[in-house]
Amino acid sequence: MLETMLPRGSKLRLCVGVLAALGLGGCAKTDETSGESSKPPVVRPSILLVTLDTTRADALGPDAAGIETPGFNALVARGRRFTRAYATVPETLPSHTSMMTGLYPAGHGIHENGRALPAEQGLLAERLQQSGYRTAAFVSSFVLARRFGLGRGFETYDDVESAERSSRETTDRAIEYLRGPSEKPRLLWVHYFDAHAPYAPEEPFRARYPGNPYLGEVAAVDAQLQRLVEAFEKSAPGPIAILVAGDHGEGLGDHGESLHGNLLYESTMRVPLVLVGPGVGPGVVDMPVSTRRIFDTVLDLAGLGGTSSLRATTTPEVVLGEAMKPFLEYGWQPQIMAVDGVHKLIFAGRNEVYDVVEDPAETRDIASSASLSRAARTALADYPVPAPGLAKAPSSLSEEDRKKLASLGYVSAGAAPVVRKDAPRPVDMAPLFDVIEKASDLFVRGEYARAIPLLERIRAKDAFNLDAVLRLATAHSSLGQEDAAMKMFEKARELSPQSADVRAYFALHLARGARWEEAVPLLERSAAESPDRVPVLEALARVRERQGRTRDALALWQRIHSLRKPGALELVKVGELAMEAEDTAAAIPAFEAARLSQGPAFRHHLELGVLYLAARRFEDARDALDRVSARHPAYPMALFKRAQVSVLLREPDSTSRIEAARRGADATTRELIARERLFQDDRR
Ligand SMILES: [Zn+2]
Repeated sequence: MLETMLPRGSKLRLCVGVLAALGLGGCAKTDETSGESSKPPVVRPSILLVTLDTTRADALGPDAAGIETPGFNALVARGRRFTRAYATVPETLPSHTSMMTGLYPAGHGIHENGRALPAEQGLLAERLQQSGYRTAAFVSSFVLARRFGLGRGFETYDDVESAERSSRETTDRAIEYLRGPSEKPRLLWVHYFDAHAPYAPEEPFRARYPGNPYLGEVAAVDAQLQRLVEAFEKSAPGPIAILVAGDHGEGLGDHGESLHGNLLYESTMRVPLVLVGPGVGPGVVDMPVSTRRIFDTVLDLAGLGGTSSLRATTTPEVVLGEAMKPFLEYGWQPQIMAVDGVHKLIFAGRNEVYDVVEDPAETRDIASSASLSRAARTALADYPVPAPGLAKAPSSLSEEDRKKLASLGYVSAGAAPVVRKDAPRPVDMAPLFDVIEKASDLFVRGEYARAIPLLERIRAKDAFNLDAVLRLATAHSSLGQEDAAMKMFEKARELSPQSADVRAYFALHLARGARWEEAVPLLERSAAESPDRVPVLEALARVRERQGRTRDALALWQRIHSLRKPGALELVKVGELAMEAEDTAAAIPAFEAARLSQGPAFRHHLELGVLYLAARRFEDARDALDRVSARHPAYPMALFKRAQVSVLLREPDSTSRIEAARRGADATTRELIARERLFQDDRR
């Protein structure tokens, strides 16, 4: 049943041969300290891991139709190609998290983009760094930005805060990095995002693939892959190993899915994978493997164990995968995949079974006739379905972050869905995928009037879709359409009577309409039950400001800023609130952070000078006050404070500074100057 070029028993031979050459004992060595500097292995290869976003297995390599990929093909000629490699999830962050942890999403907990990996989860780069590797990563999409958790263990983590950057730019930066010398072996991870929608290949690839810009993007990435591999080989001090893998494919219309993330068919789950390295003879492996084994493979290459390394692939495994996004966001059927030999079993409300070797397009469901192994059935039955409430996207993303994710096709309203037994199967909802994506993008960008008809289309097909109902309610609310908004909030409450999400969205609606008497108790309750829900905390902070509860407002803004990065104006606001609350210790860092962020545009030197003076940081006070513009409306106060500082610092010109303060005084400072002891002492 399992087609592989490697005869049974070759695993042992391979492992002994390769690992002996590395100065290590055997295949199953898991001693984590074996790579420590006290006893370094003889040769440890520099390792290049390249991940190709959104790249279908049939779009790359010697068998790919309608495209030439000489960069990848050159690696195939030198290494082992896996023709049936599977992503763990058809989405970027969870798929990469599996490669970096060796775990399925059920193990690492990241089922969707936009979530952050817990700090206690061990990562591949940490292991290699601890064992003496120089580690660096260059990623090309915001989806993999450091904040989402995969940067740990990389000395250099070159990420992007814009939505994406081109493979050319990422390669330029990686090559620049490789120019720096290294005596240690390297782990370099490079991630290319071009093949992700929208497809807009650069020339000459645009012209070369006129009817198929997706293939044009893949070909453009392949050219950069070639550049990168050359530079890597030149830079490496010793032997090298190279792994290239797709993170997931792209639907391109298969099974009604144009993009990826919603279904588990071959188009999005099967990915290219090639391994070149010491002890890896050229060949083709047709046995199904999971890309999560990249984790063990890299450990194995680095001499750090790795029991399920792809260098030893003769043990068949049941390969698992999941696509939980439609479940976690809309309450549709959870989807799990098990690939066992030629059979692929998809569970989504009911079983579908395909012989993906005979029928790679998965057009003939043989669930009624196929006999599946006990291992596959058990693996599927045991695979845990995440709890929607716990697994939802973090609400601490800023508006900007949400826009960036939405521009890439990710981000829901973040509400726990209505879970029900008779929920639709995602594949039956395929006509809605593009509508949802478009509606989400418009909604997050605040184009509510254009989003509403699309959201209504979703609701017409899926009346239980709480995400769509809440977005409709919020869109109407933002457009000041009170009746329509209230109608939708009632619908939302009918769908999910106990929902904290519905309560929070309704509270925000009331606050938007300045209906404070109703809004305040709901906001308070919402903030108490969801202390990380930033929009609610923001609304409540504004309420506290209006109520004159300055200290409470300050505490809320500080909490908000611990959840998401504040803008410069928000920092100034915190500084002002802290001054009002006479909290010098909180005010100073807020203004300092605003100054750092605004540079020459910073206008609050006077406040900072006054605060430094109160904190008896006289030199800092002097420097800040010297920066106050003479056109500042409170310039007389600056002169007064500067004179005080001058006396305290015993500056030689303090007398003339006091005079200047007197000459420039206004009604407020005239009185202060008259009463100022420091000045009287000085005159004496
Ligand atoms: Zn991806």
